Amino acid sequence: MTHESEPTLAAPLVDLRGKRGLIVGIANDQSIAAGCAEVFAQAGARLAATFLNAKAEPYVRAVTDRLQCEIVLPCDVRETGQLEAVFDAVKAQWGGLDFLLHSIAFAPREDLHSRVTDCSMDGFDIAMNISCHSFIRMAHLAEPLMPDGGCLLAVTFYGSERVVEHYNLMGPVKAALESSMRYIAAELGPKGIRAHAISPGPIKTRAASGIEHFDELLAEAASRAPEHHLVEIADVGNLAAFLVSDAARRITGTIIPVDGGEHLAA
Ligand code: NAD
Repeated sequence: MTHESEPTLAAPLVDLRGKRGLIVGIANDQSIAAGCAEVFAQAGARLAATFLNAKAEPYVRAVTDRLQCEIVLPCDVRETGQLEAVFDAVKAQWGGLDFLLHSIAFAPREDLHSRVTDCSMDGFDIAMNISCHSFIRMAHLAEPLMPDGGCLLAVTFYGSERVVEHYNLMGPVKAALESSMRYIAAELGPKGIRAHAISPGPIKTRAASGIEHFDELLAEAASRAPEHHLVEIADVGNLAAFLVSDAARRITGTIIPVDGGEHLAA
């Protein structure tokens, strides 16, 4: 059961004025990254964002133009030098960075749809590279741009710790992402750089459409969550904005579910 008529949370809870944030993962206005960018912008942050390729660009620009993103550049993390070029542009234009959001994931269809037992070495490699190692690379590139501290966010899913039907290969990949986040939080903590993974319940996005029987996952989430609500991208955005704000300066290394309490159900 969902309560579609409920108004979407929109009012920013925190003040991000003066903060500069890089958003990687907007595909269109349904993307979790778009929901986060929206709240970051409402809270006064200055934003940079990326698009995957020329095909994706118009859908991303529809969001970034509306939010007046100051830097918008291509970034396919598999293309040599593109991620580095984004950080170079941020350094040249802003001189530093206060937070970043890594909200990207990919696995080849055949591997995503097979049992973990059967996934190929190449498929595993590609999924880990795009969905996990890119976060490590972003942390590495962000570190010198955050001399006064900062915050690094990744987006994970409960299928990392429990077996969620049809999540398959992305389960171990998200487990690696979460663990990487913890090590990064420990390593960069002395520099005031914090790291978190936000763990939303299922949301109908482009990436989610690659997971088989995703509609069943949505229906199950709404029925299992004590609140019986599905999560919206603005709900994720509100947590993200809090985590990157100074109000959360003593919080690091967490994995926080935004799932209406679904994680409580046995
Ligand atoms: P989405 O399709 O809107 O976003 C996925 C993004 O990954 C896209 O912007 C795409 O361009 C990007 N991407 C894929 N390959 C890339 C590459 N090689 N280089 C750079 N970018 C690349 O879907 P979404 O659901 O908003 O996904 C965002 C994040 O949220 C992912 O990490 C996903 O695993 C996670 N997540 C999603 C859900 C959900 O139910 N939708 C739940 C929990 C976690």
